[in-house]
Amino acid sequence: MSTPLFDLTGKVALVTGGSTGLGQGMALGLAEAGADVALVDYVDSTETMALIEQLGRKVINIKADLMKMENIASVVETTLAAFGRIDILVNNAGIIRRTPAIDFSEKDWDEVMTLNSKTVFFLSQTVARDMMKRGYGKIINIASLLAFQGGVFVPSYAASKGAVAQITKALANEWASKGITINAIAPGYMATNNTKAIREDEVREKSILARIPAGRWGLPSDLQGVAVFLASPASDYVNGHVLVVDGGWMAR
Ligand code: NAD
Repeated sequence: MSTPLFDLTGKVALVTGGSTGLGQGMALGLAEAGADVALVDYVDSTETMALIEQLGRKVINIKADLMKMENIASVVETTLAAFGRIDILVNNAGIIRRTPAIDFSEKDWDEVMTLNSKTVFFLSQTVARDMMKRGYGKIINIASLLAFQGGVFVPSYAASKGAVAQITKALANEWASKGITINAIAPGYMATNNTKAIREDEVREKSILARIPAGRWGLPSDLQGVAVFLASPASDYVNGHVLVVDGGWMAR
């Protein structure tokens, strides 16, 4: 990196849901800026690992189901055993369930709320205990445009992402004075597994695309610069912010 403001050399990042999609994109961006990375996912992160190794960074793959609270402590312990510290946490792992609200099941409510918001809080809490030892850390939560809008057929997802925005602000209020910045990224409509179903629905795909001023769906690489900014000293006075990266969707 040409400027120390965005330099992550020697930093350690823990990225959840790093096997594919936006998590993979952000993990690569952080590695390119100099960070070593612990990838946490319930499937193998083989491809992301290989790409990070090609960049010359250290990387470990922790296979864990983050829906289970009992796995949180061991994920953090494994990362600390490998790298000795965690400077950056990216709470990215998330799921979505699509069903009209009138038929929505308790299971789909609980699973989405658990992974998308409960895990975000408790993983942040566990990692922050390590960050506080050094008085420095960066937590980046992945929210959504549905932190602002209600969406259609995705009530638990909208509720969980609204919670992510509020968790971000609540933790920023308590931890900014401890040297930890907590911010969120709200991605717009991005081409990943998460949006496969709506991209395959021709009518919805067209109507979504028509509202995006940038004229295209977002890509995992579109989050790299923002993730590096929020993980680096460049954002040391940015606290509790939800940064929309949506090709202009919210401006329309
Ligand atoms: P994705 O489905 O490609 O990626 C989700 C990742 O989370 C995968 O790596 C998956 O294996 C992992 N994951 C799922 N359940 C897990 C579990 N129980 N334990 C551990 N890991 C688990 O989707 P994506 O679009 O890359 O989503 C990443 C984040 O971005 C999510 O929080 C999502 O809600 C958010 N987001 C996506 C979009 C979009 O348009 N794609 C928009 C806004 C927000």
